[in-house]
Amino acid sequence: MLAPVKSTATLADLAASTPGRGLTVDDLHFAVRHSSRRKTMQITVERNGELVLSAPPGVSTTRLREFVLAKRFWIYTKLAERDRLQRHAPRKQFVGGEGFLYLGRSYRLKLVDDQDVPLKLASGRFCLRREALPAARDHFIRWYAERARAWLSSRVADYETRMEVNPAGVKVQDLGYRWGSCGKGDWLYFHWKAILLPARIAEYVVVHEIAHLHEPHHTPAFWLRVERAMPDYAQRKDWLAEHGIDVEGI
Ligand SMILES: [Zn+2]
Repeated sequence: MLAPVKSTATLADLAASTPGRGLTVDDLHFAVRHSSRRKTMQITVERNGELVLSAPPGVSTTRLREFVLAKRFWIYTKLAERDRLQRHAPRKQFVGGEGFLYLGRSYRLKLVDDQDVPLKLASGRFCLRREALPAARDHFIRWYAERARAWLSSRVADYETRMEVNPAGVKVQDLGYRWGSCGKGDWLYFHWKAILLPARIAEYVVVHEIAHLHEPHHTPAFWLRVERAMPDYAQRKDWLAEHGIDVEGI
């Protein structure tokens, strides 16, 4: 699966072995947990931003401090990442002039009095019938889901031979915080929001899920398969990690 939001992050390291409740190193404060089952030290950034330092029994404060200092860069990176993920994109207002994404481009909304369908993209505008306004969000989601199904199915067709898969088909639905997942019976699932992404990023989401038909986990073999199909996948993956969160909020 491809998830833009990571709940917790962990970093483990090997170390030798005295307890304490908390440890402060510069501006970082850690809850310290000693456990006899543990052989290594580990830092965890909890969902609420709390830093937890887990260690085997008997590890000295000096050793804990050294471990934290050695991992400082990683900790700051994780905290910055968490801040970024918690920055919520503002909810859309269904008023004339509001911009709505479609394959990476923003199109302004225009309210119209008369039109054959409730919502359509015409002459570079999303045209929404005024009487459809109370259900605007549903109309948008339906529109996106239909476009997503067609567009993503076509991309899957582009890659299936090359990536040696024969998926049962494409299903588009609300996958919560995930962009895609591959399910039972070789079906590929995608979030309707994938169609809001720039084409080359949505394409990466497709290649990522197809590769999962061979390799369920993110092993080196999985990434090798992705790279063979899409040599510049890393840039697209980075873009998604950094900007994917901004795509939320319709
Ligand atoms: Zn995945």
